[in-house]
Amino acid sequence: MANLTDLQFDQQHIWHPYTSMTQPLPTFKVKRAQGVMIELEDGHQLIDGMSSWWCAIHGYNHPELNQAVTDQLQQMSHIMFGGLTHDPAIQLAKLLLKITPPSLDKIFFADSGSVAVEVALKMAVQYWASLHQPNKTNFVTPRSGYHGDTWNAMSVCDPVTGMHQIFGSSLPNRFFVPAPQVGFYDAWDQSDIEELEMTLSKQHENIAGLILEPIVQGAGGMRFYHPEYLRQAKLLCEKYNILLIFDEIATGFGRTGKLFAWEWAEVEPDIMCIGKGLTGGYMTLSATLTTKHIAETISQGEAGVFMHGPTFMANPLACAVALKSTQLLMQQDWASNIQRIEQQLKLGLSSLAKLNYVQDVRVLGAIGVVELTFNVDMKTLQQEFVRRGIWIRPFGKLVYVMPPYIISEYELKILLEQMVEVVKNMGQSV
Ligand code: PMP
Repeated sequence: MANLTDLQFDQQHIWHPYTSMTQPLPTFKVKRAQGVMIELEDGHQLIDGMSSWWCAIHGYNHPELNQAVTDQLQQMSHIMFGGLTHDPAIQLAKLLLKITPPSLDKIFFADSGSVAVEVALKMAVQYWASLHQPNKTNFVTPRSGYHGDTWNAMSVCDPVTGMHQIFGSSLPNRFFVPAPQVGFYDAWDQSDIEELEMTLSKQHENIAGLILEPIVQGAGGMRFYHPEYLRQAKLLCEKYNILLIFDEIATGFGRTGKLFAWEWAEVEPDIMCIGKGLTGGYMTLSATLTTKHIAETISQGEAGVFMHGPTFMANPLACAVALKSTQLLMQQDWASNIQRIEQQLKLGLSSLAKLNYVQDVRVLGAIGVVELTFNVDMKTLQQEFVRRGIWIRPFGKLVYVMPPYIISEYELKILLEQMVEVVKNMGQSV
């Protein structure tokens, strides 16, 4: 071990997301990150197009976020949440309840997006158990969804592109309906919701909730669908007594052009999960919010309590930086800024649409997606992006960007020019 370089050690001993330990993809060692720039160990600078998987909305090493962490560190970095409470959690909860759907009144802080989803599913099951409907334990979800990597979160991910093939029968069996087909910008077609109605009409006695990512299906395919789908889904949930769960972990905090994606349809969920951009990408924190009615029903049930309580629940450092990050966002004209990014993404990527190996180019808010007709060679592509001074991590057929909101017009121009050139050059090999 002693003679290994750090990168060799990393390759041989440290697991990275979704990689093999015998044939790991190359990794690039980062020295620091500042604003929208990622600096590698050798000094090479990359313009960040990923916001560290949707999180770093204000960019890296932000002075006010740093200060919030430093200030909180002087008080306490952590304290248990059982029997104790603290200002960072209280102030953050007050702010979040103000900016999320009005009917949501109770908040549960959890450790990560996946755990927030677990908490949401548990809330739904406990709700129906409290109402003496013990059969309502299953969930329905559209295909092409992604909700996280823990057991139950996995079970509601797309069964083909998700992890069902590997984990098979060890996963709970969920009800899947087709992914919404009508695009965000297309004319609504009522047939898009028919299968959901059919499944609910047959299975509603066994279904606790419908879980979906509103408007943007993220890691399951970067698909943007019609807001009417949400309005219709809400009507069906009311008709068949099903809780509606919105996973806004990726869509929250302005990314789609609304503060939260439910606002595109003005449809309020019964339970909502948030995470990722919550702390401005500083550390992991998530939350699950619900209504007074659901929380009170759970609390009046046989158990009398909601059965979840992680060690690092409402971690003060995470809450303090989340409070500052959310305040920073709310203080600025974030909506115009996202529109600026959206316009530039639309313009910058438009020339790719005519390529015969480009299936689709789509933009919503600060998300720009190029869908190819074939799966990309991630290793080669990643190296080419890095060589050109940009950081983009494609997956499957998708090459996409979702930059930090602080990206300047000039930085975004370079990011898109380089991305477009790489995609155009792919034509030489297809
Ligand atoms: N839900 C959605 C919509 C997500 O995009 C993600 C993360 N990509 C998760 C849940 C899981 O979050 P985490 O990785 O923090 O567990």
